[in-house]
Amino acid sequence: MTRCLNCGAERDADVCDACGLNSSAAEFSLRKRLLNRTAFFVLGALAFVTASNRYPPLDLDGILIFIGVLFFLTLGLAILLERRALRHLEFEALKRIYYGLIPVPWILGGLMLANGALDRLPPQIQEARVEGKFSMGGALPSRRLIVSSWREGHRVERIPVDRVNFDTFSRGDVVEVKLEDGLVGIPWVVDVYHR
Ligand SMILES: [Zn+2]
Repeated sequence: MTRCLNCGAERDADVCDACGLNSSAAEFSLRKRLLNRTAFFVLGALAFVTASNRYPPLDLDGILIFIGVLFFLTLGLAILLERRALRHLEFEALKRIYYGLIPVPWILGGLMLANGALDRLPPQIQEARVEGKFSMGGALPSRRLIVSSWREGHRVERIPVDRVNFDTFSRGDVVEVKLEDGLVGIPWVVDVYHR
């Protein structure tokens, strides 16, 4: 027994009784749908990165690693899904997982925007000493000031900064980090000043 790649109905003949597509048209339709959803997912990941640059969370690196793992997991799943479908193996369960993952970066990006934009509590100021700097170029440049941590259980904080702040501060400087608690409890960095 084979299933129609377009609608999932069981199919005996080349033309599907349920949707009327033949096997190659159904294959084309499945590929197009996978491609569209993957494009929507990739756009969501970009939207998430944009949102997290606008209101950079204090734990940005951990969040980016999570998003990176999610990103490659989802793309890997799309490839696996297509292969299984073309070899006429069962793929409905995988497809549901895949479709479920598609909106996740959009939801997280929206959460990140709401966390920063709708936060009305007064900011808090934390004093810290710059212990190092880190910058990485490329398509998504990232710059961090490594400062001593004020949080229990953390040795250092990796503060996301823009180019100006990255160049302004040097190792050994004592800085004030202005933070907001965040609407959903993800603390984010407003700015960094000289004491
Ligand atoms: Zn069909």
